[in-house]
Amino acid sequence: MKYILALDQGTTSTRAIVFAKSGEIISSAQQEFRQIYPKAGWVEHSPQDIMGSTVAVISEALVRANLTAADIAAMGITNQRETTLVWDKKTGKPVCNAIVWQCRRTADFCERLKREGFSEKIYNKTGLVPDAYFSATKIKWILDNVEGARERAERGELLFGTIDTFILWQLSKGRIFATDYTNASRTMLFNIHTLKWDNELLRLFDIPSSMLPEVHPSGHIYGETDAAFFGSPVPVCGVVGDQQSALFGQLCTREGDVKNTYGTGCFLLMNTGRRAVKSRNGLVTTLGACLGGKPDYVLEGSVFVGGAVVQWLRDELKVISSSEESETQALSVKDSGGVYVVPAFTGLGAPYWDAEARGTIVGITRGTSRAQIIRAALEGIAYEVCDLVQAMEKDAEMNITRLAVDGGASKNEFLMQFQADILNCEAVRPELAETTALGAAYLAGLCCGFWSSTEEIKSLSAQSKIYSPKMTERKRLELLDGWRKAVRQTRQN
Ligand code: ADP
Repeated sequence: MKYILALDQGTTSTRAIVFAKSGEIISSAQQEFRQIYPKAGWVEHSPQDIMGSTVAVISEALVRANLTAADIAAMGITNQRETTLVWDKKTGKPVCNAIVWQCRRTADFCERLKREGFSEKIYNKTGLVPDAYFSATKIKWILDNVEGARERAERGELLFGTIDTFILWQLSKGRIFATDYTNASRTMLFNIHTLKWDNELLRLFDIPSSMLPEVHPSGHIYGETDAAFFGSPVPVCGVVGDQQSALFGQLCTREGDVKNTYGTGCFLLMNTGRRAVKSRNGLVTTLGACLGGKPDYVLEGSVFVGGAVVQWLRDELKVISSSEESETQALSVKDSGGVYVVPAFTGLGAPYWDAEARGTIVGITRGTSRAQIIRAALEGIAYEVCDLVQAMEKDAEMNITRLAVDGGASKNEFLMQFQADILNCEAVRPELAETTALGAAYLAGLCCGFWSSTEEIKSLSAQSKIYSPKMTERKRLELLDGWRKAVRQTRQN
């Protein structure tokens, strides 16, 4: 009997999960690690914390399952995307901490790129808009600011990797230097049409091509971990960025399939098949997971504040004592009584793109209750996702009739029913909510022949919960009209 191991190296914690052939979880282990904030707007991770937690959770998950590394058929890695590391090719020693995707230290340089007219060129090649979020300007920052780094890079002594690449390199003791299409497509250096690193962009960001890893499909035999780590070598057969992993874990493998993850923020991804859709609404075009051949294109949009509005109700307003309580409170009233909460705490993203907008509560009367405000906050998440879905429908010229959902806040039954109602489409939540880890496990298992096909995997999936729309069209349009008015009131211009 063999098993599949998924490693999920996320932004706040690292997790390992062991899956059986039936798709059942045999064991798991998780470790949180430090967030380092050296200055306002800067976010770093320690490379030692990332590797330490990786080795620890894998070892612990094996022990808990009473297994050894020899029982693992293959491992799949999924990871926080865009986070950047540069290390020495000989010693493996990073030249500085990892610069995390959330870090804004290169925002000014990105503004300059926009002003100087590079947006279109970058978008046409990479599907991305110039932003500090993506890896390219983070690498440039390291080469420009860490003493001696540029000279060493030019002598071919330094390597760049996103977190997947760093983990692969370390666990193989430098034998594997690779990434996959999904991670490469978030660097702003990878041409998503030619599927190659782009020399013109490398020149623009002043990055030597000798620093870059090989790029493979997500399902691929990457190599083996060194026996020193887990007792015997473990084959690595899957590498995939977290959002694309969740898309694959939800089995959104056909054109038009869409998933939304309700975490701290929300991430909406649509598989657009062979079509690289050009967005007119500020969504980005990126690459999906594949097992050999060419990857599908994916249209992606995000909402900055999703489940975070629930944390705000709990930790700042203190009107609920747990996230779960938001649901009972919301269900204790028949409606929000005309109250709208627009959670634009850090501005509005797609399709508005207004960085100056701020959170607003509108429609309060003398009779407004605490429960109505809580309900309106949950509804606010659903409205934001609805705006994003509509932008995606316009861009892709497709109607979305089924939304696969996952993430922490998707446990909220009220929110899921309201989402289905306001979108007038089914929301479908899988029984096994670990879709991010599942995607990497499926890819690794399919690649090494542990599972024979996606059909076999589909037959494994436990029952999903389906939320069907129940609201009248009249009510839906009335509520959406109120939301649009509320959004207008958050905007400064
Ligand atoms: P992340 O991966 O971004 O850390 P998770 O998928 O773990 O996020 O989801 C955590 C988020 O989900 C938090 O913002 C939390 O407030 C929210 N959340 C968790 N449970 C519920 C619930 N029952 N109702 C509403 N929101 C919830």
